[in-house]
Amino acid sequence: MNLLTERDLRVFSNTATAADNSRVARALKQDFPIFDQYPNLIYVDNGATSQKPRSVLDAEQNLYTKACANVHRAIYSLGEQATGLYEEARKTMARFIGAEPEECIFTRGTTEAINLLAYSFGETLSAGDEIILTEMEHHANIVPWQQLASRRGIVLKFIPIHNDGTLNLEELPRLFTKRTKLLAATMISNVLGTKNPVEALIAQAHAAGVPVLLDAAQAVPVEPLHVKILDADFVAFSGHKMYGPFGIGLLYGKRKWLEALPPFMGGGDMISEVRLEGFTPNEVPYKFEAGTPPVAQAVGMAEASRWLTSIGHNAVGRYESELGQLLIDEIVHIPGLRILGSQPGFPKGPRSGIVAVTLEGVHAHDLAAYLDRYQITVRAGHHCAHPLAQRLGVISSARFSFGAYNTIEDVLTIAEILRKAQKEL
Ligand code: PMP
Repeated sequence: MNLLTERDLRVFSNTATAADNSRVARALKQDFPIFDQYPNLIYVDNGATSQKPRSVLDAEQNLYTKACANVHRAIYSLGEQATGLYEEARKTMARFIGAEPEECIFTRGTTEAINLLAYSFGETLSAGDEIILTEMEHHANIVPWQQLASRRGIVLKFIPIHNDGTLNLEELPRLFTKRTKLLAATMISNVLGTKNPVEALIAQAHAAGVPVLLDAAQAVPVEPLHVKILDADFVAFSGHKMYGPFGIGLLYGKRKWLEALPPFMGGGDMISEVRLEGFTPNEVPYKFEAGTPPVAQAVGMAEASRWLTSIGHNAVGRYESELGQLLIDEIVHIPGLRILGSQPGFPKGPRSGIVAVTLEGVHAHDLAAYLDRYQITVRAGHHCAHPLAQRLGVISSARFSFGAYNTIEDVLTIAEILRKAQKEL
């Protein structure tokens, strides 16, 4: 007898079996118009971007059809409505991450958020100051710091990784010096799926008097984040990876930091007053939001956060990790197949639903093209993490990254096609 109610079928549960959660995933596909278009699509490129539920598309369209006006400047009621929706979106996002609205800066995405910080925070540094990163960072959390390093003579240091894809934290104490000004690390590797022990990183950094930036691009879609409980100083993430629109992201910063840092870009809302000789910046968070902001996208991201909360945010992430582990168990014995960051003989750390593989003698692009014939969408390449690929000794890999609409059947189909690919390619 089916004991699941209509509501159960829309909410993931930490105590349900993977099979029951898989039924929720199947039911949730109805929220996503893309699956009306492609009913047999096995979309497993969620690490790159997720599909968008109808409620998010509706929220964005609603802004354009019912409240389209520029924000903050209009005295007329349509403009006030647009401003109201934009600021409501900021409050929703603040609640979503446990922050104050003034501490939430809308950006175009994680990349822009980190660039903003690298510029503004960088303005306060001097030659010889040091920043600690990790070997597993996405280029978005390496290159802005390298640009800063060459602009201002900053020294970059990297926490190494073990062969199992976890951070080598024993090395961390040696990296802190009196000149260390920031530690910037990803919460979850976009290649390995490793979940980093961010509480320990923050505790060690704070003990050394060093603030911490977390790249939460891969974490926000799979786990509720509470910035105050974590005590993170800065957090960056993108809307489009958490079932929200493209072109929107968020930089959280502790108020004391945001008030102390200089603005990044100039123009529009970041200004309180301009004279010919200079300008006075606006208050936080507007000080960091130059020009007309992405209003509809902010409203869409706020709706995505509501959707994610409504389906069981914590439980969906746990379910996706289970799908990742099931895939690993299904494919681990395929001859010539290597699962990155999952070396036999090393302890298994916590990981998200991201699994990157290489197949001996087969280029990852050929593997991705083969999978595409079966409507399985995977990312192939270096996943914007060249230094990590070099460290692992791989040129490119194929990455499966699960989302809320993936089912156990998807995993079993992928495993079957990978076995076929190993024989045929
Ligand atoms: N950091 C990580 C860990 C990522 O996975 C990504 C996206 N692949 C980014 C940063 C950059 O995000 P965006 O392109 O949305 O700015």
